[in-house]
Amino acid sequence: MPDIEDAGLCLDRAQHFRFGRGLSVTDFTASEWCQQQVAFNLSAKLPKEVTETEAMAAGKKQHAELEAETAIEVEVETESREDVWALRLLATIESLHQLKSSGLTREIFCFGLLQGCWVRGIVDQIELDAEGRAVVVEHKTRRNPSLPSPAQKRTARLQVLLYCALFGSLAASAQQYLPAMLQQLKLDGQACLGRGVVDYAESLGLVPVNTLQHVGNHLASIASQAPPLALTHHVRYLWQGDGSELGQEHVKLDGFAVQQALRRHLLFWGGDKAPEVVPTTEDWKCRHCLFAAKCPTGQGVQHKA
Ligand code: SF4
Repeated sequence: MPDIEDAGLCLDRAQHFRFGRGLSVTDFTASEWCQQQVAFNLSAKLPKEVTETEAMAAGKKQHAELEAETAIEVEVETESREDVWALRLLATIESLHQLKSSGLTREIFCFGLLQGCWVRGIVDQIELDAEGRAVVVEHKTRRNPSLPSPAQKRTARLQVLLYCALFGSLAASAQQYLPAMLQQLKLDGQACLGRGVVDYAESLGLVPVNTLQHVGNHLASIASQAPPLALTHHVRYLWQGDGSELGQEHVKLDGFAVQQALRRHLLFWGGDKAPEVVPTTEDWKCRHCLFAAKCPTGQGVQHKA
């Protein structure tokens, strides 16, 4: 394992230019928190056991419990990467059906091309409001029974706005960009899918489904009938102690803000701009940073002194 001291200050273009295989929404929330920390993290390649805190593990458990409330687990045998991706897209189709039939779905995989970058993400929850519009809900679990800082709220807000951008353009993404995405991911859209996946798709009433491209076509058609996005979405804060809701923040759709944030972060992720560090007004973040001793700001070190 490389030493933390070996971490570089800037993203290495050759190693970390990740537009090819795309970025996840959580990549953007990590860089919203601190771009410099992301750069250190990518260079150090620390194992999950080091970077995942107890609170993060507890949060994951709570998310899995929420998902289990609405999901039905099925076992489908996969024989190729194409099969795995077909199942991923089939799960999105199922989620869209569930949203329509029951007014709520959880853990829905979305993808899209945002400012030339493939972005993917799994939306915690989408529910329908009284007017039948789709409301994105992000669950954040809290170790202490209190609401988070403005910086944490800002990060969650960006996350919700990115999910909205992906969900709102899902039909167009499946229709226009899927072949390009499959190419980027080195997947063969025309390869025959395994028997297990084909049988499973048929059990959902989808025919024909012999290839990944067929699944994409079904997704494009079903997503084109998805409900429109509501104007307001939510971040719900839950206490890890007993699962109770601590409060919620409302997030208004804001296309301008999301485009601005994407531009800022893509400059960093593309290696075109040195990473930003956290401002002194948020230097408390540095107290919890694994890379404080190496960081040029010295902010975390000052706090420890
Ligand atoms: S010490 Fe602070 S500024 Fe430096 S990488 Fe960590 S969080 Fe970012």
